Amino acid sequence: METYQPTDPCPQCSYHRLRAYHELTDAEKLLANCQPASADFTLAERKKHRFCTRCWYEEFARATDA
Ligand SMILES: [Zn+2]
Repeated sequence: METYQPTDPCPQCSYHRLRAYHELTDAEKLLANCQPASADFTLAERKKHRFCTRCWYEEFARATDA
C-alpha cells in the first residue's frame, strides 16, 4: 500500500525531495522561472507546483489530493 508523502523524492533524479515554490530561495525561483515549463503556467499556478532543485523536474499535480 502506497501512501502519499509530502517529502517524496524527485521521480526523475531521486534527489531527496521536491520543494514547494515558496520553499525555494530567491535565486532558485529565478532559475525555476527560466525552465521551459514556466511558459506553460502562470506564476500563480506554479506556486502550487513542486520542484526538484537538482534537475528542475516540476511536479504539476499532486499524486493524490484525497
Ligand atoms: Zn530531480
